[in-house]
This record gives sequence, structure tokens and C-alpha cells, in this order.
Amino acid sequence: MEACNAYYYSTRDPLGRDGDFTTAPEISQMFGEMVGGVLADVWVRAGKPAEAVYVELGPGRGTLAADALRVLRRAGFSGGVHLVETSPALRQRQAQIVPDATWHDSIEDLPAVPMLLAANEFFDALPIRQTVSGIERKVMIAAGGLAFDRDGEIVESSPVQLAAIASIATCLTHCGGVALIIDYGHEKSASGDTLQAVKGHRYVPTLVDPGEQDLTAHVDFEALGKVAREAGAKVPEVVIQGKWLNSLGIGARAASLATANPERVEELEIAIDRLCHEEQMGQLFKVMAVHAESWPIPAGFPQ
Ligand code: SAH
Repeated sequence: MEACNAYYYSTRDPLGRDGDFTTAPEISQMFGEMVGGVLADVWVRAGKPAEAVYVELGPGRGTLAADALRVLRRAGFSGGVHLVETSPALRQRQAQIVPDATWHDSIEDLPAVPMLLAANEFFDALPIRQTVSGIERKVMIAAGGLAFDRDGEIVESSPVQLAAIASIATCLTHCGGVALIIDYGHEKSASGDTLQAVKGHRYVPTLVDPGEQDLTAHVDFEALGKVAREAGAKVPEVVIQGKWLNSLGIGARAASLATANPERVEELEIAIDRLCHEEQMGQLFKVMAVHAESWPIPAGFPQ
């Protein structure tokens, strides 16, 4: 999974209508504006620390960064921008829209300063392991293709995801700041096979065309939260994306955009539906906040 996704992301821009999948920031500017608003509010309530920086993990086309930073800059935030991205193709895209950023290969390379961090659909792309009865489920070469070596009740884990959240939580605990982690997944750990492959906006078999389709797994937020707390960070209850965006006032933002741009009414209605409706992204996608104990609880989470 690690090798397939490294190849996949480094050789293309997979996002958007002509690509393989569409993410929340690509659906509407309102998504990044809500993220930026929450980060700006926390930064102001923390006393506007001048050394704080905006950090994003796996920024894709840079759309979320651009939309969030527009709001942050308006709130007076003038800190640097640090993007963790391994794909040369996507770094190039990001440089067009966030030209003043600094790029890093790994979370470990981030500066030791307070962070306002966003990660949308980053954790789902990190490699997972599957076990059946405690034995790792491996991929083997079978008649003309690839196949799994065992079936049964599958338990997933992701040492790479856990190392990433541990690193973020440790940074936040020592230097201050807040992280917003948005992804599809479950609030409670459970067994089951969530590995999936997407190509051209369709689910496809996971072992066909390795490196040519997007391989992801559902994120186990309970497991991430446990590791973040163990590292000393605070983790409020995880909320579903639809409820979070609504509580932040995405409806009011849509109304104000519609008033200023009457020709966009239909587009805005469709965007709200896709982002918030429980049968679309509203319920499957969860939002987890991780923050330093000395920092305020971000908006949209139980206070
Ligand atoms: N956040 C963006 C893109 C999501 S796609 C959006 O919401 O539109 C996943 C992103 O994570 C891509 O930018 C991909 O190149 C990046 N990525 C995947 N694995 C990574 C890794 N191990 N380290 C850094 N970035 C990675």
C-alpha cells in the first residue's frame, strides 16, 4: 500500500472531475473557509502568538490551504506556511496557489513552534496492516495477478498513522497549537476490511493495477485519539463533518455568497448537500481536534 500510493501520488494529480476522486476542499471554498475560521478563532483566543505557523499534511492541490489562509490572514495571522507533501507533482500544484510555503517530506521535519494544522484525507492514504486470527494478511502472486493469502475476520491497524499522530500530538504538547484531522472513518475501533481502491470516481478491486488507483482505508479515530492523549495532548469528542460544518455556520456563509453572487445559488446548494448531508459526506467523514492543554478547545467540538 505504501509503495503503491507513493508511486500513485508522485506521478499524477489525482483530484477533480478528470481525476480519480474529489475531496471536500475541491467541492467548495466554504470548506477551507470553515477550517480557516476555526484555526483563526483558536489563534486569537490563544493570544495571537506571532511565532505560530499554518501546517497542512498532504495538501493535494493546495485549495484548502489557500481558502483557510485567506481567512487566517484577514484575522491578522502573518505566520509561515509549512506543507508536508511527498509528491513532486502535487508540490508543483501547491506552489502555484500557495507560493510562499515551505515544503517538508515528513512531519518530523516541521519547525518546533505553535502549529495551526489541518489534514484532510491525509491519514486514509497512509498504509495499513490487516491481520486474520493474529496473522498478517499478505499479498501473493496468484494465477495471473495478485491475491490475498488468507481470508477470515480482518483486524486493521496502521503503525504509520499512529506514528504520524504521535508526532503531531508531541509537537502540540511541547510547542502549543491545534490540529484538525478530517477523514472518513469510525469513532470506535472495530474489526472489518475497509481497504478500498478508487479510479475514475468508481470503486475498483483493490489488487488490480497497483500504483494506478487510489488505495485508502477508513481511519480508526479511537486509536488515533488514544495515541494523541498518551502523548499529552487534549482530544475532544470526535464530531461528524455535517454537524461540525453546520454548527460553524456554513449555511450563513452560503447565504452571504449567494447574495453577492446570485448566479451561484444552485452550485452552493449542491455543495452544502455534498459536504453536510448524512447520505453524502456529512456522516461518514469525521473531524477530530487535537490541541495543547494550554490552548482553547476549537469551535464545533463539545466545550
Ligand atoms: N488534502 C487534499 C488531498 C488529499 S489526497 C484534499 O483534501 O484535497 C492525499 C494527499 O496526501 C496528497 O497530497 C498526497 O500526495 C499526500 N500524501 C500521501 N501520502 C503521503 C505521505 N506519506 N507523506 C506526505 N504526503 C502524503
